[in-house]
Amino acid sequence: MNLKIFNTLKHSVEDFKPSDKHKVKLYTCGPTVYNNVHIGNLRSYINADVLKRALEFNGYAVDWVMNVTDVDDKTINNTIKEFGNGANTEQLKTFTARYFEGFLEDLEKINVNQKDISFVKVTDKIPDIQDFILALIKKGYAYKADDGSTYFSIEKYQKDFGDYGNLVGEKFLEGKKIGARVKVDEYDKENLSDFALWKAHEDDNAKIFWEHKDLGPGHPGWHIECSLINYLKFPDGTDIHTGGVDLIFPHHTNEIAQAQPIYKPFVNYWVHSEHILVNGAKMAKSAGNYFVLKDLEEEKIANGLALRYLVLQSHYRSRLNVTKKSLLAAKNGYENIIKEVSLLKNKLQDFDPNVGTVNDIYYEKFKDTLNDDIDTPAALAVFHELLKSKVSDSEKLQTIYKMDEVLGLSLENASSSEKELKPDQFPSDLKDLYTKRLTARSNKDFTLSDHLREEIEKLGYRVIDTKDGIQIYKY
Ligand code: AMP
Ligand code: ZN
Repeated sequence: MNLKIFNTLKHSVEDFKPSDKHKVKLYTCGPTVYNNVHIGNLRSYINADVLKRALEFNGYAVDWVMNVTDVDDKTINNTIKEFGNGANTEQLKTFTARYFEGFLEDLEKINVNQKDISFVKVTDKIPDIQDFILALIKKGYAYKADDGSTYFSIEKYQKDFGDYGNLVGEKFLEGKKIGARVKVDEYDKENLSDFALWKAHEDDNAKIFWEHKDLGPGHPGWHIECSLINYLKFPDGTDIHTGGVDLIFPHHTNEIAQAQPIYKPFVNYWVHSEHILVNGAKMAKSAGNYFVLKDLEEEKIANGLALRYLVLQSHYRSRLNVTKKSLLAAKNGYENIIKEVSLLKNKLQDFDPNVGTVNDIYYEKFKDTLNDDIDTPAALAVFHELLKSKVSDSEKLQTIYKMDEVLGLSLENASSSEKELKPDQFPSDLKDLYTKRLTARSNKDFTLSDHLREEIEKLGYRVIDTKDGIQIYKY
């Protein structure tokens, strides 16, 4: 099966066809570096990374670009909080560089290779952004208002292109009044307005601004950076643009509007990743309901690869409710995989991943799940089926490594020093649960068997099911 992917713009699953047969131009909206990223943000980058790896699995070379929002209202406000009312642009850069570094560390932990990504910081592109805005003014799509800021005219755009808001839905504009202006970057659909491209400097922005003879002193609005950076990197059009679903409106809707008067086609496939929720609500810094990876590591609840494993267990277009319990379960599940793979590796001491064959049946099955709109839960199911299968050990390991090129669970590095306990070494409480679980398994009572696994794990043991029985390891 060839790769199919859900294109938000068409509201349907489509065959993927890049503009160049062998190369894919991929753009991902990067983080706003005013604070530590949370695991919701990380989910969107894991999903983008899996998409990139799936493209490579299909034989494409991928050119991956990501912006870094190192200037906006939030970064400015937090810089002023730290450096005081005299804060300047250099201090903004010092402040945001710290959170960008933290982001890179998190990417390494979730096994997203930063070397695969061309990062573009917004503060390095201010003159290009200014030129882009001037070009929009010249063509009549932007205007400087009496508050000194420059806005994008939705009315003019709509008159010429007629597709404003199509990313949300074709009837998006129905019953909406166009005309008011909004200076903040984030607003809801009901407050549809001309949005700021260049925000005039105000006293509460301290000394953080850039000069321009026509636009006046100020800083860019949030949306313009992504239109501009796509244009600079992929002037002939971007194949795939990714981000979280909250970016569909207004950010990506406005990106399209700003870009199309300058160049077309802008983006062919828009791919959006659903949110991580906590108790049913979107994880967000503003809501205060967020987890940061570093804290979860300190509490020994999760690590980057366990988080990646958890994210892979849900389809990128499904919401994922996260609790500390589910994070911990993912960590256990991930460690079980490591244990199983390292057992396999130990058995095959002189295994050479460059020699030997991949199992065609499992390989094709795995590829089909990926190509079916990146169905990672189904891909993981094939992976687990392979682990439990009777495929020869060396072919199994070879195939596992191949699958891990996409899963990114770092399985080639799998090693575990945990010692297996034999039944005659079991303390009595463990022996009892072990025997009951063997019986439950032979009766195919999987509910009871799962319950007993949890009970054994609570005692501090790892449980590995093999085709011949159950292995027990001391944590
Ligand atoms: P930001 O730094 O706020 O621009 O967000 C960076 C990325 O994380 C964007 O693609 C967002 O759509 C995404 N994102 C934000 N919150 C969540 C969440 N709770 N779950 C998944 N992705 C999110
Ligand atoms: Zn963006």
